[in-house]
Amino acid sequence: MQKSDPGRSEQRLDHFAKVVRDAGVKVTHQRLEIFRELATTEQHPTAEAVFRAVQRRVPTVSLDTVYRTLWMLRDLGLVATLGTKGEGVRFDVNIDRHHHYVCMRCGLVRDFESRTLDGLRLPESVKALGSVVEAQVEVRGLCAECTPKMKTAKSSTKPAVTPQRTQRKKTS
Ligand SMILES: [Zn+2]
Ligand SMILES: [Zn+2]
Repeated sequence: MQKSDPGRSEQRLDHFAKVVRDAGVKVTHQRLEIFRELATTEQHPTAEAVFRAVQRRVPTVSLDTVYRTLWMLRDLGLVATLGTKGEGVRFDVNIDRHHHYVCMRCGLVRDFESRTLDGLRLPESVKALGSVVEAQVEVRGLCAECTPKMKTAKSSTKPAVTPQRTQRKKTS
């Protein structure tokens, strides 16, 4: 499982603080905690998810502050956004060219890189719809955690009697 590299997170955090300061914005404790939350996760969280996580450490933080801080980071080019307003915008700390793997069951999101996909040619029909700023591929499926235990059941001597539960995780 891909883990967030602590060294890289620290670098990102320093970079965030520097860019924000250079833009003439004060780096408050709350803002720093919001940056930290974003810099240390790979989960491409929504503003609400960032708010809930930061609130555990900083109980006085407001959802409004989280929103404003995240969109400020976006405006400064420090984070990218995914999705549309309707389905809840997700914030992506990885601003390098990449694509996404999304688990349809648990909502896990992971980045991956592909030169082949970077070079994807869009059909003319897309250009007819409007301008294209960027294109990224979203691969959907069931992540390793969510994949039914078929592989392990085969190699295991114990009879696997895991009832098939199709319980859906509630998304906000
Ligand atoms: Zn999953
Ligand atoms: Zn991403």
